[in-house]
Formats: sequence, structure tokens, C-alpha cells
Amino acid sequence: LQQRLGRAGTRMLDRLRQAQAEDGRVDADDLARAAEDFGWPVVAVTGSATYYADFAEGRQGRRHVRVCEGTACFVSSQGQHIARIERALGVRQGECAPDGSVSLQGVRCLGFCYDSPALLDGDRPCSGETLGALFGDPLAARRRTRPERVEPLKMGAAEIPYTSTTERPVVLAGLVGGEEPWAVWPGVVTTGSPQKVMSEVAASGLRGRGGAGFPVAKKWSATAAEPAPRYVVGNGDEGDPGSYGDRLLMERDPHRILEGLALAAFAVGAPHGLILVRSEYPAAADRLRAAVAQAREAGHLGAQVHGSPVDFDVEIVVGAGSYVAGEETALLHALAGLRAAVRARPPYPTSHGFLGQPTAVNNVETLAAVPWIVRHGGAAYAQLGHPDEPGTKLVCLSQRFRRPGVYEVEFGVPLRHLVDDLGGGLREPYQLRAVQVGGPLGGFLAPDQLDLPLLSKPLAQAGAALGHASLVAVDATVPATAILRHAWAFGAAESCGACTPCRVGTRRGLEMAERLGAPGAALADHEPLLRVLDVASLCAFGRGVSCAVRSLLRVYADELHRASSTSEGGG
Ligand code: SF4
Repeated sequence: LQQRLGRAGTRMLDRLRQAQAEDGRVDADDLARAAEDFGWPVVAVTGSATYYADFAEGRQGRRHVRVCEGTACFVSSQGQHIARIERALGVRQGECAPDGSVSLQGVRCLGFCYDSPALLDGDRPCSGETLGALFGDPLAARRRTRPERVEPLKMGAAEIPYTSTTERPVVLAGLVGGEEPWAVWPGVVTTGSPQKVMSEVAASGLRGRGGAGFPVAKKWSATAAEPAPRYVVGNGDEGDPGSYGDRLLMERDPHRILEGLALAAFAVGAPHGLILVRSEYPAAADRLRAAVAQAREAGHLGAQVHGSPVDFDVEIVVGAGSYVAGEETALLHALAGLRAAVRARPPYPTSHGFLGQPTAVNNVETLAAVPWIVRHGGAAYAQLGHPDEPGTKLVCLSQRFRRPGVYEVEFGVPLRHLVDDLGGGLREPYQLRAVQVGGPLGGFLAPDQLDLPLLSKPLAQAGAALGHASLVAVDATVPATAILRHAWAFGAAESCGACTPCRVGTRRGLEMAERLGAPGAALADHEPLLRVLDVASLCAFGRGVSCAVRSLLRVYADELHRASSTSEGGG
């Protein structure tokens, strides 16, 4: 559509958001007006308005609360926080009060996994103990009977704890190492060469940190080899429940991401950059927008940057609630204001990306490593980490750990080091039952598997995945059947629906998990369904959901078989 119309819809999601803010919903008149203004068919605008959770989940109240349903929040209260928030607000999840005063939306996830459970009241966060205090709030009963008198919640959320354990912080070079951003860009853009930037990144061995692990220099070379116009895109759609490292970077060190994107643009010859930030991270979007304005003011962005012949500017686009939008072909659709549906590859975005033009898409953590690599040299970066996987990675530990937070570590460290030495084990009185590694498309590992190193291949061989490197601790109080339902529920809610095996399969899986324990329900029914997801899913999402469920069937084999045999025996 964008190619046909030759017109970017990067403001389309903002336009729909604005219409929704006016009277709580996007109606037919809004769709018709937006279609006319953008020169799109109404059906294309309707496609977007009905796809994204922020618009599609019904009317929003004057006060809109988003509650996190991510894995760390689920573990911290076994899902009970949602019912308690419903009682406190006097409205059910997915509903709006009849007088339009308040609405409650469930989202996965808000990136407060270190301080679960969490919610956003408008754009104001509330998490952990502050939110817990609400559960016993005597106002709750009054609110139920008089919903028109909804009181403000007592708000508050802890800042993200972070530290670097490497001798030379790279991604956290600014936050921990005191390295100022924009240190290399003026020199590179005026006297450097794209080949030199490219060769340093190639020498570093840097791979994509969003989960796919593709070599960055290879992606950039492929993009640079295509005819102009070219684009660079920062992927700030950190949707993995359990991960919040990207949120930390976007909120606390946005200039480092922008400098990394500028260096990528210089290497591939792209005058335009875009960053997609998820709507669940409102502070990150604000900080990035402010950083773009500051960078323009300082002359780092704009026409003829620092007096060079190079033009480069950046646009920040805010998503509207879609996990799959983190996949690069879906992300490109979302940037253009379209439904964030995955498309088959090839052709790859390096030749057919934003508006059908050559585009290099990199995760924001990947981009944040680039200034350090250009400054200190690719060889210095390659000395960090493991020979199979050089460099460093941000790892996120969840709330159940004694010391949750973001840790920059070198690749190859044992998971046990992350769990015991950095995380300090689980807080009292909890016992570790499993660790979910790599988010909802990763896998669950038993405590006796924690000698595995933080490396993609060994984790994949063990039935997990590096993913975005989150570690969510699941304690022994969480029932196996509940965590199985949680894994399937994520798949069913977030499948983009582009292919039948995943769209239908994840829903069947959830039904099977919900029926476990009922007469006639058998755990063995999972296997044929998982095989279909493995072989017939269009993108990594379906295979990832299968990987997560399979790992649960392995780690919780005894409990799940007991639940299953109860049902096979007639309950
Ligand atoms: Fe969409 Fe799932 Fe198919 Fe991926 S596997 S294209 S998320 S329906």
C-alpha cells in the first residue's frame, strides 16, 4: 500500500490515538476522516484500527489503566494482582465503566519485571510494594459501589537497578562507565569513511541483540549494496515479558542509541532513520523524542551534519500494542501505520524494507554498542565474551531474585553465575523451581540445568533460547498447570494471525491447557499440536511458543503428568 501510494503513514497510529483520546474510541467517522487525510482506502485504516490492542480492545475511559500480565508479574502474584486491581477500580479487565470514567486493559508487558506487579495509570507507573499496598485499600469497596468517585491510586515505581560486571562496560558505557554520547559521531561524519565504520563493526563480531543474532556488519553491507533511497531503523519494540534492558537504555541513555543509529546510517548511506517505541513505554518515547530535539540543536542531526555533506535525521514512531511488531517485517508495517503482520522472507528488509526500500533494522541494544566499537575498535570488542559469541549482553533478572535488575555481562558466563552470584538466588521464602530464559519464545530450565553458558547454541540445544536474555525466576509455589496456561495464553493473545497453524494452534493449545484436569483431557494431545507449530509456522513466533511449551512439559513433567492422569481417570 505504501509503495502504491508513495506516502508514509508514520503518523497514522498517532492519528488513531488522537481520535481515541477525544471520545474513548475510534469510530467509523474517525476512520473515514483519517483515510481521507492520508489518502488511504478506509479498509487499510480499519485494518490498523482493528489490529492493535490499544485501539481494538474497546472503549477507553477518561482514566485508562494498563495492568501487566507478563510472566514476572504473573509469578509475583500468580495472576491475583489483576483481580485485586479490578476490585480496586470497580471495573473488569478489558472493560470500561458505563459512565466512561475508568477502563482497564491487560498488557504484556510493561517492563517493570524487577518490581512486579505493575500497572500504568495513564502514563504514570505504579509497581511493587506501592501497588501491593493498594490491595488492602479500604477505598476499594467504596469504589465498587460508587464508580463515579474513582480515587487516584497512590503512584510510585522503583527505578531500574543496573550494573555492568565486565571490565569494560560497552552498552552501559555511559550509565556505568561515564562515556559521553556523541563522542565519535562528529569526527566520523566529517573525516571518517563508511568503510571504516563497517570494518570496525565487522571486526567486532557484533550480532543482533534482539534475539535473532544476525551479524550486524553483514546486514549493513547487504543494505549498502542496494540502490538508494535506504533507511535505518531502530527496533525499540521490546515486547518480551521479562526484558526491560531496552527500556533502561531508551529512558536513561537515548543519545547513545541515536549515535549508534547515526553511525549505522553513515555506514549504509541512509539519510533517514526511524525508531519504533512500544506504546507501553511512554517515558521511553518521550525521552527519545527529547533526545532527537537536543541532537538536532547540537548539530548531530539534520542537513549537512557538522558541516559535512551528510544529511541525517530521525523520526520516533510510537506503536499501539502488538508483540509481533518486534519481528522486523511486522515492525516495518507498524512504522508505516499498517497492521503489524509478518510477511514471508525473502525478500529481506535489506532490499525490501521501509516503503519497499533497502532498510537495515537493528535492535536498540545493538545500536547502543556501536559507538563504543567505533571508538575503541572492533578488535577490543571481540576480545570480550566468548570466541563463539564475542562481546557483552544486557541480562534482566526478575522480581523473585534477591537482586533483580539489568546486568551487563560477557557472553559465555554460566547461568548459575547470573542466578546465584548476581541475582543472589531467590528472596525468602521462595524456592527456585524453574528459570524462563529468553522470554516467552525461549524456554524453561530446571535448576540442575543452570551450568549452561549464556550462549545461543548451547541454550538452543537444551531446548531454550538466548532471545533478549531475560531470566524470569519461577518459584515452587506456582502450579505447573498455571504456568502452562500462562505460556499458551501468551501465544493465543499475541499471535498476529497471518498463518493458520499459529493463529488456530495457539488457541487450541490454550483450550487444552485449560481443560487439563477435566475428564478426557490428555497431556499427550500437546505433542501433535506442537509438531504442527514447529513445521508450519510462518515466523519464529509459532516455533517459539512451541519451544516454551515443550520445555515446560519437560521441566514440570511429573506435576503435569499427575494432573493429566487425574483427568484421564475421570477427574
Ligand atoms: Fe503470525 Fe504466528 Fe504465523 Fe508468526 S507464526 S506469522 S506470529 S500467525
